[in-house]
Amino acid sequence: MGNKRCTACHRVFHPCPQVPEQSFCSALECQRERRRRWQQKKRRDDPAYRDNDSRYGKDWSAKNPEYWKRYREDHPNYTDRNRRQQQSRNQKQRALGIAKVDASVPISSMPSGRYRLTLVAADGIANEDMWIAEIAVLSSTYDESGGDCKVRT
Ligand SMILES: [Zn+2]
Repeated sequence: MGNKRCTACHRVFHPCPQVPEQSFCSALECQRERRRRWQQKKRRDDPAYRDNDSRYGKDWSAKNPEYWKRYREDHPNYTDRNRRQQQSRNQKQRALGIAKVDASVPISSMPSGRYRLTLVAADGIANEDMWIAEIAVLSSTYDESGGDCKVRT
């Protein structure tokens, strides 16, 4: 293993014994040149590297929707935690005995009594806040066709 000539500055140098294929000397400029060429080669030959690299480039925002998808794929714990939180909230919801009232069910089939009310957001997840409401069914024959709540509290 003799001396080599640096690819960048063409000076003769001793390659490290650990890196016999070294073709750049240890000068800062030459090492920078080595990295630059390596990146160029990677971009040309390795689509995965190119894709990853461009994430930090100009078109990062264009790839942004993909980012979160990948983030979730790369961080299964993140989605797991979200799912668990949702599950526990769903369980709490069930434990409170709050069921979705189907509008096609006649209101008369709903017994009078006290109900716990929870605000359910669009995603179907109940808010932590809760109210107790007393619901009295006024007449079992009144407007059974409608899903309208004829309820007085
Ligand atoms: Zn050099």
